[in-house]
Amino acid sequence: MLSVRNIGKQYSGERKVDALKELSFDLDEGKFLSIVGRSGSGKSTLLAAIGGISRPSSGEVLVNGVNQWLLNDNAHADFRNRAIGYVFQFASLLPTLRAIDNVALPALVGGTLSDKEAYARAHLLLNQVGLGERFDFFPGQLSGGEQRRVAIARALINAPSLLLADEPTADLDEQTEEEILNLIIDIQRAYNLTLVVVTHNPAIAKRADRLLEMLDGQAINDVAQCVEKTPAEQARKLFDVDAEAAKLEHVSLGEGIERLLGKLFMFVIPMIVLFWGINYGVAFFEHKVLEAKEEERSAVEELAMRDLRADVKDVTFGPGKSYIVSIYLRNMTDDKAIYVMSPTVRGFIQIGSSWQEVPLKAVAASKTKVEKITGEQIYQYSMEPETAGYTQLLPYYMHIRLSNDILVSPSSQPKTDLIERSDNYYVYLKPHSADDSLILKKMKFPGKPPVWIPMPPH
Ligand code: ADP
Ligand code: MG
Repeated sequence: MLSVRNIGKQYSGERKVDALKELSFDLDEGKFLSIVGRSGSGKSTLLAAIGGISRPSSGEVLVNGVNQWLLNDNAHADFRNRAIGYVFQFASLLPTLRAIDNVALPALVGGTLSDKEAYARAHLLLNQVGLGERFDFFPGQLSGGEQRRVAIARALINAPSLLLADEPTADLDEQTEEEILNLIIDIQRAYNLTLVVVTHNPAIAKRADRLLEMLDGQAINDVAQCVEKTPAEQARKLFDVDAEAAKLEHVSLGEGIERLLGKLFMFVIPMIVLFWGINYGVAFFEHKVLEAKEEERSAVEELAMRDLRADVKDVTFGPGKSYIVSIYLRNMTDDKAIYVMSPTVRGFIQIGSSWQEVPLKAVAASKTKVEKITGEQIYQYSMEPETAGYTQLLPYYMHIRLSNDILVSPSSQPKTDLIERSDNYYVYLKPHSADDSLILKKMKFPGKPPVWIPMPPH
């Protein structure tokens, strides 16, 4: 099932490190391997090479007979997304999405399930990890242990056959640690997963079928262990949740994002929320790993903020009293891939000193959820602002705010390389009923008063 052959990994940089040296082992399907070893011995590096996160410098890793490092980027992303579940060492939930959105996300961006199926399965998995009641909580409203449970559910959304967990209980208290590890082991039994867990906890390591001890990038000990386990049958019963729970009403990813926007309300400068939780207690050995993540993050940040431009392109009168708003997304580079989840755009009109939402309808709903932006892509929406009592910062004109929320990634199936960007655009709109000659008495325009006037961010 899993075959690691002579893999090596060198980190170059100011200090060259041989993080893995000619390491080999095989693991049969449905087995549980635990990896132990002191900090810096290469455990995370090994897991990242197996999980498709960072490429080994030499040797081969075969998962189900496939060497994912030989696939092209798209095929690799797809393989990684479907075959492998990864529970990271640090909390890695998107803080602004609900638990259920976080769990469903890999299926939505990977296109492995329809929206409905993804959310039904996400709900089922949240039930299985004991969070059925809290599916719409945000990560910040959950305890550390509960957040791990969400991360575990997320790792399982695409029904992987291999589950990898890198110190999944680091920074949890002892009892919670025990609960989370029991959960992982029960899940492994119930689904007959092949499981690799890096852990510092000897009690847990003892419960694995195999124990691999690492030191300085090498396996110094590889022992088969005899362990008593819950029979798979029994484990399955633990997860026998009411199938009704899965018949969840359709909820779209947008909802989580909309709530975010509700909260951000008056945000002026486009803002980004970063994916990675920050762990203050990181050991020295993890710093390098974090640095690498930081680099990845700033690359994605640059992609989302600089390489992707988004703004209002045009507003025209539509049928009846409606307006057609065109928003563009433009890839400013010739060579970088930029993927976005279809943007969530909402409209507001200023009434007094507050904003009242105006429903927006996509003119031609995009068929694919994840779109590659090459050149310029136009999204059109129709809106019909309620004009009574609107605030006139410019005589006769309505003051309109459009908020645009986009998930941006360099990959079509992002894992950690995903950033949320929220923009606000402000425009003035001329009411359909406005009398041009009256407007021209108050303001000067070279010709007819325009349908819309863009405003710089404010
Ligand atoms: P473990 O998970 O067992 O603590 P790691 O795999 O994180 O070990 O690290 C193995 C070695 O590789 C350590 O010496 C560490 O400092 C180094 N290392 C890990 N990641 C990087 C990186 N991105 N750049 C440079 N060195 C790294
Ligand atoms: Mg580690």
